[in-house]
Amino acid sequence: MSDPYAAQPPGPADPPATHPLYSRLTPRYAPPRPAHAPRRAPVAAPPLRLAPSELLRGLAGGALLVVGLWLVQAEPSVRLDALFATLAHLCGLLAGYGILVMLLLMARVPAIEHGVGADRLARWHALGGRYVLTLCLAHTVFALCGYAAHTGTDVRAAAVGLMGYPGLVAATVGTALLVGVGVTSARTVRRRVRHETWRAVHLLTYVGAALAFAHQLSGPDLAGGALAAWLWTLLHTTVGTLLVWYRLVVPVRQALRHSLWVTEVRIEGPDVVSVVMQGLGLDALRAEPGQFFRWRFLDRRLWRTALPFSLSAPVRDDTLRITVKACGDHTRRIRRLRPGVRVLATGPFGAMTAHRRTRRKVLLLAGGVGITPMRALFETLPGGPGDLTLLYRAGAADQLVLREELEAIAAARGAALHYLLGPSDGPFDPLAPRALRNLVPDLADHDVYLCGPPGMSRAAAAALERAGVPAARVHSEEFTF
Ligand SMILES: Cc1cc2nc3c(=O)[nH]c(=O)nc-3n(C[C@H](O)[C@H](O)[C@H](O)COP(=O)(O)OP(=O)(O)OC[C@H]3O[C@@H](n4cnc5c(N)ncnc54)[C@H](O)[C@@H]3O)c2cc1C
Repeated sequence: MSDPYAAQPPGPADPPATHPLYSRLTPRYAPPRPAHAPRRAPVAAPPLRLAPSELLRGLAGGALLVVGLWLVQAEPSVRLDALFATLAHLCGLLAGYGILVMLLLMARVPAIEHGVGADRLARWHALGGRYVLTLCLAHTVFALCGYAAHTGTDVRAAAVGLMGYPGLVAATVGTALLVGVGVTSARTVRRRVRHETWRAVHLLTYVGAALAFAHQLSGPDLAGGALAAWLWTLLHTTVGTLLVWYRLVVPVRQALRHSLWVTEVRIEGPDVVSVVMQGLGLDALRAEPGQFFRWRFLDRRLWRTALPFSLSAPVRDDTLRITVKACGDHTRRIRRLRPGVRVLATGPFGAMTAHRRTRRKVLLLAGGVGITPMRALFETLPGGPGDLTLLYRAGAADQLVLREELEAIAAARGAALHYLLGPSDGPFDPLAPRALRNLVPDLADHDVYLCGPPGMSRAAAAALERAGVPAARVHSEEFTF
């Protein structure tokens, strides 16, 4: 089989305006079309993407509706027990809504994944999870205090008394499960727990959410409000359906439809390999350069886990390619994959694609294995000579990967390519604002795509801002969730 990456020359230096990339990637920046351009063949509608601000506005609107629901049901009173009860009611409703939001963020809905980005969603989920847990605990405390004040008992006796109410045992178990999930997600604990263990514990969130829902339907929060109960059920059913559809049905359908298998494992450097995979009808995935999939290799040592890796080349001839740095147990095993191994790939995910672009000039800034999505973008982002610059940061020359391809693309497209070598704690910082401006004099007029280790990405983003690139024009992706 021919090698679609090494053997073929990279794309044209400046693809014509009728190039399918322009229409398929629907960039916000579109190069001018000549007046006499021929009519384009009809193309598939661009993928739907929800911008982060749109999603946040929608979620905030939902929270306001929940507060409205509480206001409608609240009975004003100055009695202490009633005050506690109404606060418990508000916290309970918001906690229930928050659980749904947390599930929605992780439902892998394409419009959300492609617009917001998986890394940002994971950060919001982690932050939001803390608020939801706080609301759950506040709900419990207020309910206990309210019941104790109402019955004239202490909090312990109130806890025993409350257990007699419908749905309260379920609610207690649900809260305990959510607290357990929260504890294992705390950074200090998570660092010590295997990813698979953490994930298995995290699945308990679904049980916790179901128990919380049962409690809310049978408890005082929604009881008596037929419309409220109906709306609450509709909300839960919608999120549940999205979860089942995008986390179960779509992956199974993709596996059956595309039958992916490994065709080659190529050594790229001391710790880095590229895995080339072939499948059927891969264009239908509509994967864009800059995106990633979650890959499950059906090999004895790897089938248990699905690992995220970016495409290191555009999809071509029903072939996908990833480039992986060995840094842990699983990534070390990838080196030993054999051709013929079947692969389950779910995706594409990620928002670091051409659609984010707003300027004609683009700087791609990669650190270490963060070069993988940049390699695919370097080849495909529309632009003429001088429009694209790739800065590739690495400790030393022998750590550079895909070098031949990058140089061939740079030569064919008239793009600039610079290697920034040296230890991260060296005396000279090649990512300092001044150094960046020396390499890219009109830096402030660029969009920047940034991918690298967390420390480097943070430092580079700060340096770019100081060099005059607004944060909104820095499009980055972290390789950690
Ligand atoms: C969006 C994205 C794109 C990525 N693209 C690339 C790429 O193109 N090339 C590349 O070399 N690396 C890439 N990575 C990083 C790569 O996924 C991790 O290095 C790899 O999962 C580590 O696995 P390990 O078991 O070998 O290492 P370990 O040492 O076991 O894990 C290291 C860390 O990786 C994370 N991790 C482990 N397993 C998973 C999992 N199943 N899902 C999510 N995170 C996990 C955990 O945070 C863990 O603490 C990407 C990561 C993300 C999030």
